[in-house]
Amino acid sequence: MSTQRKPGVFFKTFGCRTNQFDTQVMMANLRDFAVVHDESEADFVVINSCTVTNAADSSARNYINQVKKKSDAKIVFAGCGAISKGKELFEQNRVFSVFGHSQKQNLNAILKQSSPTFDLGDLKQIDDTVVEDFIGKSRAFIKIQEGCDFECSYCIIPSVRGAARSHKPQTILRQIEKLARNGYGEFILTGTNVGSFGKDIDYPLSLLLQNISRIKGVKRVRLGSLEPSQIDDAFMELLDEPWMAKHLHIALQHTSDEMLRIMRRRNRFEKDLALFERIADRGYALGTDFIAGHPGESEKLWQEAMQNAQMLPLTHIHCFTYSKRDNTASAAMKEEVRGDVAKARRAELVELIKAKNYDFRKRCTTPLQVLVESEKEGIFTGYDQYFNPLKIRSNKDLKHCWIEVDDVQREKNANFKTL
Ligand code: SF4
Repeated sequence: MSTQRKPGVFFKTFGCRTNQFDTQVMMANLRDFAVVHDESEADFVVINSCTVTNAADSSARNYINQVKKKSDAKIVFAGCGAISKGKELFEQNRVFSVFGHSQKQNLNAILKQSSPTFDLGDLKQIDDTVVEDFIGKSRAFIKIQEGCDFECSYCIIPSVRGAARSHKPQTILRQIEKLARNGYGEFILTGTNVGSFGKDIDYPLSLLLQNISRIKGVKRVRLGSLEPSQIDDAFMELLDEPWMAKHLHIALQHTSDEMLRIMRRRNRFEKDLALFERIADRGYALGTDFIAGHPGESEKLWQEAMQNAQMLPLTHIHCFTYSKRDNTASAAMKEEVRGDVAKARRAELVELIKAKNYDFRKRCTTPLQVLVESEKEGIFTGYDQYFNPLKIRSNKDLKHCWIEVDDVQREKNANFKTL
């Protein structure tokens, strides 16, 4: 008896780790449809979009045009871009259906609709789907919170993700138990503003971390981006725990107080420096986010920012050049920085942090615990507890393996080992 083929759904995910988790939630809620990994087999293409910059909007629009050129698949538009651009795309018939974050668990029903649907839902909802597997990944991203209460002048996220709200601790723990039973050992806690977790439910992030560490099979816990103001003493007490990844990403966005004031950031340099030094003294690698070229960033403020960055014990950086985002306070600011100047500043800072990372790796004597994630032309790559890549030459298949190595070859861009 031939079983009828389920219509195929191809997922295209843009943006951050939180979006990657959201896509897994959508996949997990499909009943009458099958996930396909090739667009050409798709009856539906679900775009989980990002809208963090104008450029992100263009990427989604270009992708829609590509799909429309290649196939008759119905395009379903979701993610943060649904809130900011969904109406426009729907009214222009560029997409078949549009839905907001709060509707993603209803994807099966949405795809079963024969006529176009438009439903942005609300910005208060919290998912309770437990994802059983992370298709194609060796590490598991775990969304622990949604939304953000900060008001950074360049950022649209709070208006498309809503206010900060926490996922239920028991759902998070059940989620990790399931994935640990399915063989995952490393968990990356993610969200729009991870450090806001627990504030609305009186449940500290440090308590969640301790409870996660007690789950059988959990080897390492990493955290997505934290804000300096969110690191309290209870969190600091966990730093030496063996299951804590020895790398934290703490978003500064700039190192000049005047720029931080203009960007409506809550952090200030002197306190940031003291915090980073305290954590670096515990042997941690430290990463941050930085926006170069934000309006108001004069040459004088840039020089001050670079001097301050020199003092910080940084080892990793996500440095972006400012990209205007409509409907943000920064978009109305006059003193714009030329694109080539912003790019040059970004390059200068990235070079500085690359050198600091190399120094850190040269000083590092502890054995490296590495989860091997991928293989390309006989070279395996994984990340150690300091979130530094290790390139391994080996005849054995090391994918998804945990290995402990010391005595690695330290080169400018990465560490190397032959096994
Ligand atoms: S902390 Fe600032 S940059 Fe980050 S999501 Fe919130 S408003 Fe945006």
